[in-house]
Amino acid sequence: MLELAIIGGGPAGLSAGLYATRGGLKEVVMFEKGMPGGQITSSSEMENYPGVAEVKSGFDFMMPWQEQCFRFGLKHEMAEVVRVKRKENHFVVVLSNQKEVEAKSVIVATGGSPKRSGVKGEDVYWGKGVSSCATCDGFFYKNKEVAVLGGGDTAVEESIYLAKICSKVTLIHRRNAFRASPVTLERAKNEAKIEFLTPYGIEEICGNDSGVTGLKLKNLEEETIKEIKVDGIFVLIGFNVNNSVLMQEDGSAICATNEYGQAIVNLKMETNIPGLFVAGDLRIDAPKQVVCAAADGATAALGAIEYIEHHK
Ligand code: FAD
Ligand code: NAP
Repeated sequence: MLELAIIGGGPAGLSAGLYATRGGLKEVVMFEKGMPGGQITSSSEMENYPGVAEVKSGFDFMMPWQEQCFRFGLKHEMAEVVRVKRKENHFVVVLSNQKEVEAKSVIVATGGSPKRSGVKGEDVYWGKGVSSCATCDGFFYKNKEVAVLGGGDTAVEESIYLAKICSKVTLIHRRNAFRASPVTLERAKNEAKIEFLTPYGIEEICGNDSGVTGLKLKNLEEETIKEIKVDGIFVLIGFNVNNSVLMQEDGSAICATNEYGQAIVNLKMETNIPGLFVAGDLRIDAPKQVVCAAADGATAALGAIEYIEHHK
């Protein structure tokens, strides 16, 4: 039986692997369905990890993480996990090839992904002017004009954040009413650099070899078309968490989750099921940053070491 199974090999999973193996756990396996590294490997520029002064691609940034873990004995199994089940006082990790692996404790770090709008040009310019993360990429648009798509708390809050960096923020939302909280909306309305465009949809994200240059917008009431020039567009229309491994055959989740399917954890990344930890973007209130996911992974691994020590 494994001492620890880690599911997901992004920043949270790899960091958990490092701390668990260096912390003395034996038989630690990280199950990752693809190449380790996680979401950030799809980013062309990463410049906000403390201590890393050089701007690197997400892929280059993550490469040393796995090498470092493997040096301390972390094993990587390239496999998709279907679910984690409880069995007596341990866990069973069910793989997509039907194999079942038993483990004393489990850290689930399967992350998630930002929702895409599907508008024309979004895929073409993703990472070249289209972004899903203002904290990550806002600084690249210092003193430039950007747009934000969405009408929830994330879109409105991030518009306020971007207004501190950019020269203008156009907030585009498909309805006149916003899901964002009235207080947040009021703050955005009081911000001179934010222009609201509602009810508008994006017909096309336009650009050239250098990236995004503008947007073709449609007024959804009047059906009129308007074009605006922007250097970047932030698509902030929600986030999908990869929580399928938590789901049991009867449709319930193995541990407590909130209405968005995010796992409810405490400050030690413990779920309400002893021995089961969740780290990174899958947990409640995740700041969705590499540094935070890595910290979660380390915290969860320390918790797993403590758990195993007390359940010998
Ligand atoms: P993830 O990175 O999502 O990793 C989860 C891993 O689990 C994946 O490798 C996945 O393949 C694997 N997995 C999922 N399901 C299964 C399964 N069933 N079985 C096996 N494996 C599974 N953050 C920053 O700090 N700075 C930035 O500049 C920045 N830029 C970003 C740019 C982009 C385009 C994106 C998408 C995100 C960016 N982020 C940035 C956010 C950052 O990437 C995430 O917050 C971070 O990767 C979350 O780490 P994680 O380990 O929780 O999850
Ligand atoms: P959200 O509340 O689901 O809002 C998504 C927004 O994007 C909605 O306005 C939606 O429009 C729009 N949208 C969805 N798909 C679209 C598409 N294809 N094209 C154009 N627009 C589209 O998501 P969120 O803002 O990420 O927030 C998620 C949850 O986290 C919410 O409960 C939110 O309150 C919470 N949150 C809280 C805080 C905070 O408390 N400080 C901060 C951030 C997030 P419609 O409105 O028309 O559906």
